[in-house]
Amino acid sequence: MSKTLEQIKKFYEEAFETSSKAPSQIDVRFYPYIGINHTIRLRDGRIFVRLAELCRDLPLEAQRALALILVAKLLRKKVSPQALQIYRESIKGVELRERVTANKRARGRKIITTAKGDFYDLGEIFGHLNQIYFDGKIPQPTLSWSTKKTFRILGHHAAAFDTIVVSRSLDGARVPKYVVEFVVFHEMLHIVHPTVHRSGRRYNHTSAFRRDERKFAYFDEAENWIEQNVKNLKRSAKRK
Ligand SMILES: [Zn+2]
Repeated sequence: MSKTLEQIKKFYEEAFETSSKAPSQIDVRFYPYIGINHTIRLRDGRIFVRLAELCRDLPLEAQRALALILVAKLLRKKVSPQALQIYRESIKGVELRERVTANKRARGRKIITTAKGDFYDLGEIFGHLNQIYFDGKIPQPTLSWSTKKTFRILGHHAAAFDTIVVSRSLDGARVPKYVVEFVVFHEMLHIVHPTVHRSGRRYNHTSAFRRDERKFAYFDEAENWIEQNVKNLKRSAKRK
């Protein structure tokens, strides 16, 4: 056991000294909790303390205060205001650092994309369409199923991020493959036909775009299916 842990363990022994139920053994460890969490448990007369790894470098004075706080809580006694003040003061720096890491974690999550759905693989669909309709010439953008089951927007091409997002509501056995293909195909056409700016207006679906869209082999079937099923998609989106 490290010197610090040994010292911290003594703080817990001290904290129990005034109690009639002195534990037979105290086990103190740092634990890689996400965030600032500490736990104290009593099991078969033994005490188990798990301190947040983030707080390893707290000054001993603060560790002592934390021991008093946790033991008081376990024994359902009043927590010493001085101990609380010392602990709160010294935890501020750790809290700040933790907020920074939490923000980084949240940002990291946002860029995680999933081309492979439960049912359809957008990577495979893109590759197939690229070969058949575009001579394999469209550089592969980031492909991702949306996180939510949106139903009004079935697909989206974010030019700035070179990303095609397809609504997760289409990732299921009841959705014919040609429908998913059609949505991906439509978004691929947005790469081929970038937005046109004319007299202060933006045109996303130019007549050239619409002409190319009709080249999709199951154009009518896909349009019909979407027309007939958007209500069902809406319902399944509400269920989730
Ligand atoms: Zn469009």
